[in-house]
Amino acid sequence: MKPRTNQQIRRTATNKSILEYVKNITDQMDSEEPFYVFDMSDIVHKYKMWKYKMPRVRPFYAVKCNDNPLLLELLAVLGLNFDCANKKEIQSVLGIGVDASRIIYGNPCKTRSFIKHAAAVGIDLLTFDNESELYKIKALHPAAQLVLRIYVENSGFVCQLGTKFGCDPKSAEHLLYVAQELGLDVVGVSFHVGSNCMDKTKYGKAIQCARQVFDRAISMNFNMTLLDIGGGFPGSAEENVDFDEIACVVNEALEEYFPLDVGVDVIAEPGRYFTTSAFSLCANIIAKREAVAPHDGDPLITYYLNDGVYGSFSCLMFDQAEIKPLHLMDSADYAEVCCSLWGPTCDKLDQIVKKCSLPVLTVGDWLMFENMGAYNMTLASNFDNFQKLSVKTILSIGTCEFLRELPGWWHLAQALEANIEHVQVEKDGKLHDALNFNVLQQFSVKD
Ligand code: PLP
Repeated sequence: MKPRTNQQIRRTATNKSILEYVKNITDQMDSEEPFYVFDMSDIVHKYKMWKYKMPRVRPFYAVKCNDNPLLLELLAVLGLNFDCANKKEIQSVLGIGVDASRIIYGNPCKTRSFIKHAAAVGIDLLTFDNESELYKIKALHPAAQLVLRIYVENSGFVCQLGTKFGCDPKSAEHLLYVAQELGLDVVGVSFHVGSNCMDKTKYGKAIQCARQVFDRAISMNFNMTLLDIGGGFPGSAEENVDFDEIACVVNEALEEYFPLDVGVDVIAEPGRYFTTSAFSLCANIIAKREAVAPHDGDPLITYYLNDGVYGSFSCLMFDQAEIKPLHLMDSADYAEVCCSLWGPTCDKLDQIVKKCSLPVLTVGDWLMFENMGAYNMTLASNFDNFQKLSVKTILSIGTCEFLRELPGWWHLAQALEANIEHVQVEKDGKLHDALNFNVLQQFSVKD
């Protein structure tokens, strides 16, 4: 496929209207419960960027990152495949009608009953990185197509995965030998450079290393057809490395070590790339404390929100994220003061922002936080009775038009209709209730 021009892949999405939307709905809301806003157009934009920048690499979305049902439906319609880490994720993906052949069970250390389940539902692509896993697979899913996950050096990444998974490439030969003895079919090599990438060159080195393991496997007569370059691709402009730069490194390394004519299928397992910027969080100020005699530079106001580190801000613990609150005040005519933000629990670790500048706000006001779509939902605990948050969805008319041309749009349209009171459609810079706008019914009839 000929890559499109940058002009063609320009985002048709809602951009600034999310904040407008949040202002409107919070004005009319009785509830003070925190909620997410999901911008579907952002996902479509990311999909187009991926296709344009890394056309050879087929994404298998890492469900662990965010398992919102509408998100999964959207990704399925876009033709993405899925990386699942356990039985529940597999069931969620199969439950939306995705064929088992579009799933990789990408956890190298699997529960036995889950392997049995994968075999029963027809998931054949399984990752492994140790000998004991091979014996389990031999017993429970002998027809599996196996992908050997290797360790790649990942110092410099915020979330390093190499300490937990991946065999040392030097011991790959031994594992290949055991697989051969057991009559198992090894078809590929995978790696994960670490989540939240800080160093684009790691992808190039990892692809080179995968080539060496590939060659060893080929020399042992394995029919090697798959390279899986894992995840770690940045999901927002705020992250440390640019997606374009990583794409260049990957494309160059693929050309050098896995040129097109060798016929190797290249896949990836992106999570945060697709979801980070598509979800914004809105939380309510439930309490406020003003300092009576603050020391120099200390926050003047402490705000307490009804969401925190044990809820949607787990990115503070796991990603060392920098959180930037956005307030919803219209006029620029206000003074900002030094504030700190805390979550609702009684734990002193539940601090969201140590210091930031905000206008003087009152209890009941809302704050919005962008780039909250990766891992925060799936990692949220129910500590202090924290409940799963509702999700309000926005999609632009341009996105609807693009999606309805894709096979399977009706499936997504049905899912949107089932959630219709939480869906807004953007047309000409204005948001309309999907219910009144009737756009979904129109489009689903056309399919
Ligand atoms: N694949 C595997 C096996 C993972 O463990 C992870 C994250 O932990 C991912 C993919 C997704 O990583 P990311 O969200 O950084 O793209």
